[in-house]
Amino acid sequence: MARFDHVIVGSGINALVAAAMLSGKGQKVLVLERAGTLGGCMRTEEITLLGFRHDVMAATFVLFLTSPAHAELGADLARHGLEFCHTPDPTAVLRPDGSSLVLKTDRAANVAAFNALAAGDGDRHASDVGSIEADAPFLFALLGGSLWSWSTLKLMAGQAWKQGLRGLAAWMGRALVPARGWLETTYASPMVQALWAPWVLHTGLTPESTYSGQMGKVIAFALEAAGAPVVKGGSGQATGAFKALIEERGGVVRTGVDVDRIIVEGGKACGVQTSDGERIEASHVSASVAPGQLYERLLRDEDLPAEKAATDSFRHGRGDFQLHYALDRAPEWLSPGLDQVALIHLADGIDSVSKSANEAERGMLPETPTICVGQPHRLDATRCPDGKAILWLQIPDAPRVIKGDAAGQIETGPEWTEATREAFADRIEAILARHIKDFDKLVLKRRAYSPADLAAMNINLVGGDPYGGACSIDQFFIWRPFSHSVNGDTAIRNLHHIGASTHPGPGLGGGSGYLLAKRMGA
Ligand SMILES: Cc1cc2nc3c(=O)[nH]c(=O)nc-3n(C[C@H](O)[C@H](O)[C@H](O)COP(=O)(O)OP(=O)(O)OC[C@H]3O[C@@H](n4cnc5c(N)ncnc54)[C@H](O)[C@@H]3O)c2cc1C
Repeated sequence: MARFDHVIVGSGINALVAAAMLSGKGQKVLVLERAGTLGGCMRTEEITLLGFRHDVMAATFVLFLTSPAHAELGADLARHGLEFCHTPDPTAVLRPDGSSLVLKTDRAANVAAFNALAAGDGDRHASDVGSIEADAPFLFALLGGSLWSWSTLKLMAGQAWKQGLRGLAAWMGRALVPARGWLETTYASPMVQALWAPWVLHTGLTPESTYSGQMGKVIAFALEAAGAPVVKGGSGQATGAFKALIEERGGVVRTGVDVDRIIVEGGKACGVQTSDGERIEASHVSASVAPGQLYERLLRDEDLPAEKAATDSFRHGRGDFQLHYALDRAPEWLSPGLDQVALIHLADGIDSVSKSANEAERGMLPETPTICVGQPHRLDATRCPDGKAILWLQIPDAPRVIKGDAAGQIETGPEWTEATREAFADRIEAILARHIKDFDKLVLKRRAYSPADLAAMNINLVGGDPYGGACSIDQFFIWRPFSHSVNGDTAIRNLHHIGASTHPGPGLGGGSGYLLAKRMGA
């Protein structure tokens, strides 16, 4: 039987960050991935035509680029081929009437553009992103740090000292404001409101969710400061760089190995057993899985009533829908200024975003879904043959279990079938085609992924939820995944829980893998 210091189940960003950091400290690490390719949500494939390289799922690396994990590993990953591609125009909104607003990575330009739309909106933008900048040490420690720790307690005490207890409570109260409240009381221009409203969907929230205003401001700050970078060659290149680094540091990475059970002896994790019956011993096991799999499958024989009860009430979020295009040439947007934009939201504003999210939450196919259009070929010419183009579309509002069609047009059953998926893709395409000259003549091939397809590719995307569980405040921060969770600890000694379902939640920041490695002395 092989023996390791640390076995990690899964190979998403958190697993790879942890493996790279722990192996860098001389630990013997093994990463086990059930899929045929490494990387979880990071995969790049020629899913439409040969020569067109699509990021099938995650594409935008701003969270990784700005993360502490990147600060530690970035130089070594760059040595192994990780390179980011940027644009000065990270995002834009394009409304149904063809009006649009582009965000630049230039605060003065944004202030001027917003002020031109409504007097004072630009100044208020400067004040919003400025407040995130001013609060950065405190705010980012809460958003990304190990919350049950002396350092967080000290930080809170320091803030209470600085602001007074009432001042700190007021700060917290302001942080709980929903995005609708933030946008409607701050910005007079519906265009500026429409620029930010769709972004809260990418945090797993909606414009009506508690604290989505604060998350919206954090995103505004991050996009303006760091842009919306993609990986040169696709997110699969990031995975390749991680693999090379882990192996260089003596770690082992295996794909096509499904872990079926965590071996527990005397209340302590001491290895894993694979579906093929292979037993692998380890001093520590980290599981980068959703709570359902951890407690109902991998620990099925353990008597853990509190964890199993908490798993029963853990909620997954809305499903995600992906649509990819190979195009014969770069799209000609009917609205000017969008050519170099990394991510364009097609949305009317707060109400349309709220309606689409609410419909998906109620199990309906949204009548007018909020659409995010990525143009990776504009940032990275290596993604497709010369003169051609690719589009990456994300629709963050799709029902996990379908109850009906909000437009009353698509026939549905509870499951995502091929027919439902393609009919919904047609709806999305019709909205997109209104904004691009001769779109139908450009399309060489399209490929759609329903929430069910995403779940089939990655078992962690339960029901197609891209974020490892609903991100409402009751399941976030110190309450992720469970209200009684303490950092990444579990009721089993030497078994650690990481991944999107754990604090600090989803995204490519690799936060839970980083925090685990730090707790383990890396
Ligand atoms: C379609 C989509 C688009 C997204 N776009 C972005 C984006 O652009 N930017 C961004 O920051 N975030 C994005 N996200 C969110 C982000 O990608 C995820 O939150 C993040 O990648 C999750 O990482 P993870 O470490 O939890 O593991 P995951 O990426 O979920 O990987 C977990 C891996 O564990 C494996 N596994 C699970 N169980 C077992 C087992 N028993 N045995 C062996 N292997 C197992 C799975 O096969 C999987 O490969 C997107 C998510 C989705 C779904």
